Amino acid sequence: MFCKNCGRELKDDAKFCDNCGAKVVFKHANNDDDENEKPECDGKVTIAFVLGISSLAVWTLPVIGLPISIIGLVLGVKSNKVKLHTAAIILNIIGLVLSISLCFAGSFWGYLSYKSIL
Ligand SMILES: [Zn+2]
Repeated sequence: MFCKNCGRELKDDAKFCDNCGAKVVFKHANNDDDENEKPECDGKVTIAFVLGISSLAVWTLPVIGLPISIIGLVLGVKSNKVKLHTAAIILNIIGLVLSISLCFAGSFWGYLSYKSIL
């Protein structure tokens, strides 16, 4: 979102513009009454979903797949409960499980070949 006063890009949780100091007005500003707000698609769930897909794409490289799926899972859990929410969490869990099992398989395989050298 952007500052209505000066147009500068703002952080999602910003209360005041850090450029001009204007108070940030949310689209649905209802006196901080969060209870009646409809969940709306935020950036987090999209990122979580993309990370989930990425973690499935790179799970064969646990060094990359593990952090991606963990970040994606955290973002997915924190995000609003929109359609993508569940899909993002499931994708990241699958990516995480695949990466972890590959880690174990890899270390077990390494252990076996190490033993056979001795
Ligand atoms: Zn501003």
